[in-house]
This record gives sequence, C-alpha cells and structure tokens, in this order.
Amino acid sequence: MSAMHDGFTVLVIEDEESYREALSVGLRLEGFRVVVAEDGGTGLSLLAEVQPDIVLLDMLLPDMHGIDVCRQIRAVSSVPVVVVSAVDSELDIVLGLELGAAGYVTKPFRLRELVARMHAILRRAAPVVPVVASPLVGPSGQDEVNGPDVIRVGATTVDLQRREVLSDGDPVRLSRKEFDLLATLLTPAGRMRSRTELLDLLWPDQYLLDSRTLDTHIHRLRSKVEPDPTEPRFIITIRGVGFRIDLDGGAQATQPSPMSA
Ligand code: CA
Repeated sequence: MSAMHDGFTVLVIEDEESYREALSVGLRLEGFRVVVAEDGGTGLSLLAEVQPDIVLLDMLLPDMHGIDVCRQIRAVSSVPVVVVSAVDSELDIVLGLELGAAGYVTKPFRLRELVARMHAILRRAAPVVPVVASPLVGPSGQDEVNGPDVIRVGATTVDLQRREVLSDGDPVRLSRKEFDLLATLLTPAGRMRSRTELLDLLWPDQYLLDSRTLDTHIHRLRSKVEPDPTEPRFIITIRGVGFRIDLDGGAQATQPSPMSA
C-alpha cells in the first residue's frame, strides 16, 4: 500500500543507528521519502532545507534533549512531530504533547503501528507552513526561541511554561487535564483539534474512553475561562468535528472588552 504515502517526506531525528536504519528502510518501503539526522542540531538545520511533512523525534539525543528540539521546531514550523520515547519516560511524552507534538510511540515499537499512527496524523494535519531559515534557531541551542509561552485569551492569560492561568490578574484553578486541554488548543492557537485527536493526545492509553469525558472537560474549562459559558466565544465548537480557540473571542463581531463583563 505504498501509494498511500507517496510524496510525504519524513525527517527522522534519531541517534541510534539500528533504529535509524530500520526506519529508513521500513518507511521507504511504505512510500515515504526519508531524511535522517543523527542529532538534534542536525535535525533542526535540516528542517528548513527538507521541508518535511512529518518529523519523528527521538527524545534522548547526544547533543540536546528531544523536548528542546521539539520546542525549537514549534517556534518555526507547524510540521507534525511524533515523539519517539523510551517506555519509562512518560514525562517526555507529556511535555512533548504540551509543546504541540502530534503523537508519540514508545520504543520498542512495530513499524506497522508507527506507520498507522503517522498516516492518521498526516490525514488530519493542516498544510505545513514552509520553514523560513532563521538565525535564531541553530544547532547550538544558545539562541533558542521558546515560542509564545504566555498567551492571552480575552482577559485570560495562560502561561504554558509555568502552567499558570490568570483571569483579569486573578489565578484560575484548573485541573491537570483541564490545563492540558487548554494548552493543546493553544499550541498552536487557532488550530482546530478534532475530537479524536484530543482524546488521543490527552488520554493516550485509554482506547475505550467515553468521548463524553472530553465534553465534560470542555464544559469545566469553559466555566473557568469563558465570561458566559452558555455562549462560548473563546473555546469554539466545530460541530461534529472538534474544537478550536478563538483568541479574541470574535471581538470584531461583539463588544470590545470580552471578559470584563
Ligand atoms: Ca536516542
């Protein structure tokens, strides 16, 4: 079924030779164009040149941590990133997803499982905006661009690094999942996230989860960040599909000061 993936370019950032070779051969057989990088710095510098459709990113790299590579990719590109992690580093997976990774696989994984995952991600991915080579992003990591860590949603300020939410300057208490949900909708802000995608990202191990769990979390989140949760203006439902965040709450259509009412 190689035709399915024809034309897609995958950038594999992986230091272990055995994985790199297996992925290189296996993914080519699946019809992908494969470009490999042995460390984070090389991966980042290849990004602009290769313009990949998807990135496979190992977390333990010799020169820098995968999380930092992910953050630097996010600062310049919307390309879907799949985190490749050891089974026991759950924290990396969580951090990766918070930084906008589209999914993850844990080592050891089966190629078939990975390809299915990549295919699902590529199907739902928005077109990737071309990477503009930037002097701010280099292999050294010294001039690292962190991306917008603090995002304003109406009168609500979300600090993604500190996991703090303020509304008109007052702290808003969110559960861990509520925050993760908000953070996912904000990275990048405005991107529509399908229900499946959100369930996949936020409850990755619970395949049989009732999708109403998502609605419950959306409901609670709205009650905390929306001025009128019965008429949400910031956390927008795309009926039958998913959700997205509108940073200015459709301000042009209604009153100018969204959350002060
Ligand atoms: Ca590694």
